[in-house]
Formats: sequence, structure tokens, C-alpha cells
Amino acid sequence: MADLKIGFIGLGIMGRSMSRNLRQAGYDVTVWNRTAAKMAEAEAEWGAKTAASPKEVAAHSDVVITMVGDTPDVKEVVAGEEGVLAGARPGTVLIDMSTISPEATRELAGLAQEKGVAMLDAPVSGGDVGARNGTLSIMVGGEEEVLGKVRPILEVMGKTIVHCGPIGAGQTVKACNQILCGLNLLGMVEALAFAKKAGVDLEKMIQVTSQGAGGSWALSNYGPRVIKGDLDPGFSVRFQQKDLRIVLHEAERMELPLLGTATVQQLLRSVQAHGGNEDGTQSLIRVMEQLGNLDITPKT
Ligand code: NAP
Repeated sequence: MADLKIGFIGLGIMGRSMSRNLRQAGYDVTVWNRTAAKMAEAEAEWGAKTAASPKEVAAHSDVVITMVGDTPDVKEVVAGEEGVLAGARPGTVLIDMSTISPEATRELAGLAQEKGVAMLDAPVSGGDVGARNGTLSIMVGGEEEVLGKVRPILEVMGKTIVHCGPIGAGQTVKACNQILCGLNLLGMVEALAFAKKAGVDLEKMIQVTSQGAGGSWALSNYGPRVIKGDLDPGFSVRFQQKDLRIVLHEAERMELPLLGTATVQQLLRSVQAHGGNEDGTQSLIRVMEQLGNLDITPKT
């Protein structure tokens, strides 16, 4: 499979590591990034080829992967004038691994199909560490036969690869993942506030509850960081809000009330209003501290 030529668009926190892993697995990788300095780094550090546009990447590739920011960004790099579809040959496979709207994904797949390009949506979970270590969870939507062709490529980047259903289903499952992340985050900060107000030791509370039925990834990973005052991003408030916007938009379309998710989104809006857009999502603790008039994170 390593003879397939891969194009990779978007060398951000995630894309940089994912494309490097593909190159190191022996694939021929051509990259494009909006900010050219990141392409130069990929060329110098691990031997990526570079291109002048997504269109040019597609012209050199059998499989094109996009890992950019939000829905409009994917639309631009895929369907824009200089986008992937302007340069792709029939038979090319396009894999979008960004987290975007399932509805927009289906629209893009329709445009791709008109050019003879098969599209998969393959958003990921596992963060920057998962991207670096090639251990992402990858949620795939699209035709199973197409996934079969590119599975070895996905296996370089992830350790759990699940076909979730037709095109858009990967993004739908990713939206479920973000609902869970948001509500577990809220559970973590409320438990910390309750423990603090009641005067029990926060570390002991985390130690024991994280092993029981109330445990969560948020509690095990963010809880200890919050009580040390570490609010640096793993995953930024900006990105979590993008993802919750996608969730709530889809929920509105389906006429599904999601009370908990909407509450988390509004509380994170307060983090943003206080200048925390680029902080980690665990900075939700700041809002909890204000609401409860208590201090949990050490103040510098
Ligand atoms: P990031 O570090 O902000 O990088 C975003 C990348 O997209 C950059 O290469 C940026 O180019 C490019 N980009 C953005 N808008 C563009 C546009 N309009 N045209 C062309 N390129 C554009 O983001 P990231 O953390 O790698 O995340 C990428 C995707 O993965 C997002 O959809 C995110 O939600 C998802 N994700 C992230 C994580 C995580 O932990 N970070 C986890 C799971 C999923 P420039 O270099 O020019 O800015």
C-alpha cells in the first residue's frame, strides 16, 4: 500500500504529526499549508514534498487528506477555485479528518462524486498526543469498500478505526463524542466545587471517584491539572465551542432538545467573555469558581 501517493492539507497541531507519521511509514507525502513556513518545516524536517495549492496536491496524489479547522475551511480547500476537486483525477479518494458539520460533509461528498472522487469523513479523537503517537480513534463515514482501500493509511494514524455508516456518519459520531466530553467536563468542575465547599481533600476525591461509576476521561486527566492551576490547552475552548455549535445546529435540524450540551456551551461562552478562548476547556473551572464564590485553582 505504501506505493499510494498521499496529499496532506493542513499542518496544524494535528496535521503536522499525522502527515509526519505517514511519511515515516514510507508513503510519498505531498503537503500544502496556508501558512507556508509550516510546509518548509515539513520539507526540511521529514522530507515531505510541497505544493503551491490544494489543487496541485490533488494532481500529485491518489489519496488526499484534509485536516483544517472549521466547516468553511474544508469547503475552501476542497471545493474552492484552487481546491482539491479542481485538481483531482477520477478515482482519487478524499478523506476529510477535520471536525465539521455532517450536513456539509454530505454536500461536499456530492460535489466530489460529480468529479469521480470518493469521499470519506474520518474525524478523530485523541488529541495532539494521539496524533503524535499514531493512536487516534478514527470514526469513518462513507462506503465500506473505499475504507477498505485506505484502511492501511488510517492505521498509521490511529489505533481504533470504526466504520460508523454512510457519508457523514463519522462526523455524527464525533458530535456524540463532543457531547460526552462537554458534559463530563461540567461533571468534573461541579464535583470539584462541591468537594471544595464541603471541605474534603480534592486529590482524594479524584483518586477514588475516577475509579468508580462516576469516572470519566475529563475527571482523570483534567481534574489533577485543574487543582494544580494548569489551564493550558490540550483542547482549546475555541475548538470545543466550534464542535458544540455543530452539535447544537444538527440537534436543531433534528428537533432534538439537548439541554445539558446547551448549558455547557453557554458556560464556556462565559470563559470566552473573560478572555479564555485559547485556554484549555478545563478552564470551565473559572466560571464555576465565580458561580460558587470559591477558589479551586491556585491563584498566581
Ligand atoms: P490548528 O492547529 O488550529 O490547525 C488548523 C490548520 O488548518 C492549520 O494548518 C491552518 O493553516 C489550517 N486552516 C485553517 N483554516 C484554513 C483555511 N480557511 N484555508 C486553509 N487552511 C486553513 O488545528 P488542529 O488542532 O490541528 O485541528 C484540526 C482539526 O482537527 C479541527 O477540525 C479540530 O476540531 C480537529 N481536532 C483537533 C483536536 C486537538 O486536540 N487539537 C482533536 C480532535 C480533533 P495555518 O497554519 O495557515 O493557520
